[in-house]
Amino acid sequence: MVDPLRAGTDPLLIVRTMASLHGSPVARSLLDQAREARVEIRVAEDIDLDAGVFGKYTWDDRTIWIRRSLLERDPTEATKTLVHELQHAADHTSGRSDQLRAQLERQYAAEGPLPTSGLIDQVDYHLSIASESRAVLRHTQVMAELGFPPRFAVERAIVAAPSELAAYQAVWGSEAVRDNRHMAAPLGNPPVVFMPGNSAENPL
Ligand SMILES: [Zn+2]
Repeated sequence: MVDPLRAGTDPLLIVRTMASLHGSPVARSLLDQAREARVEIRVAEDIDLDAGVFGKYTWDDRTIWIRRSLLERDPTEATKTLVHELQHAADHTSGRSDQLRAQLERQYAAEGPLPTSGLIDQVDYHLSIASESRAVLRHTQVMAELGFPPRFAVERAIVAAPSELAAYQAVWGSEAVRDNRHMAAPLGNPPVVFMPGNSAENPL
């Protein structure tokens, strides 16, 4: 478990949410990784988060933030959010995100000039979808382990076809991502990229 002394403000709210992960071996392993990487978990005040944002992970200080009202009023969604952000933290601290960025930059450089706004925007866009797919896949997997039914369409799609490809397509197709600022110029199909070490054939 992450050291509760490093759990920032309102450690009880955080510790209670961490304890809810006990029944999931996958989540316990993510918590172990977070402790080893000195990741901190803190309460975010609602006013400091954009509307609709349940939590976030900040790279600079290796900190996971969970919305206070979620921790206080919706323990199930808080649990899910913690798992989601733990996966983002794991991808950062293990170097996976940087590996994928380098891989994407090589791919795009090999394809020549881009029809869209530029190399960095396109790489950022793909990286955001790939990272988000992994986090959604992981939180859906853990919530299933803990016995909670999927709540959102994107999670139901993953439960129906549990693979990184299904997660990728579901996340790409979700309205939130379509409206995301990383959305590139018209793309007829989801741009499929996988994090190193994963593939469409790899079920949960
Ligand atoms: Zn995310």
